Amino acid sequence: MIIAEQKPLKELLELTKEFKNILVVGCGACVSICFAGGEKETATLAASMRLAARADKRELKTTESMTLRQCEWEFIEPLAEDVEAADVVLSTACGVGVQAMAEKYPHKLIIPALNTTSMGMPVEQGVWLENCGGCGNCILGSTGGLCPIARCAKTMLNGPCGGSQNGKCEVSSEIDCVWDLIYKRLKGQGLLNLMIELAPPKDWTSARDGGQRKIIREDLIIPESRPFKDEK
Ligand code: SF4
Ligand code: SF4
Repeated sequence: MIIAEQKPLKELLELTKEFKNILVVGCGACVSICFAGGEKETATLAASMRLAARADKRELKTTESMTLRQCEWEFIEPLAEDVEAADVVLSTACGVGVQAMAEKYPHKLIIPALNTTSMGMPVEQGVWLENCGGCGNCILGSTGGLCPIARCAKTMLNGPCGGSQNGKCEVSSEIDCVWDLIYKRLKGQGLLNLMIELAPPKDWTSARDGGQRKIIREDLIIPESRPFKDEK
């Protein structure tokens, strides 16, 4: 899932200060699970903005809408009327949802209410952990299912750096050294031989250094339904 957290209210009030009629649009997917942009958070944010505006003697009306997923055209199409009626849209989706809204409604300013941080999962109540950096060429098959790209501060690919101490990362004693975890996992699986094999320099062309990445499945394409025509 995509992990995000709400921006400070003060920042959102500043970002929207020019506007009197704000549509706050929530998303029912990842950001609901991390309690940042679901139905409850959207309603609470809208109410907080109204209260803060009133305390500031600022005229402000808010309307709320929910989408099942703000990152797909079919779910944001029905928002057209609400978007038209508002001066500005405050989106509590992740950065993908905000950009989908901005693409769909280019004449309207779409302001992000969240800071999108990472891809990961809830590991316990109230704790979300990044565990995939979206490198485009997954190596989990040789690292015991633990990602050194997302979880190692130095993205080490052939074992720990010299700072690994007692299972902890040199960056912080609160952070496990992922290479220590990989060693223990592979040892438990009787697969330590995987650690002995040297990983060649990683080919990062599948990562995001070459700009926006794209996956094309020719078998699924319906040409007339494509909002972005490819230049291939
Ligand atoms: S190796 Fe790459 S794709 Fe696999 S979990 Fe790590 S960052 Fe994600
Ligand atoms: S201590 Fe471990 S997790 Fe931390 S930077 Fe070094 S190898 Fe990576």
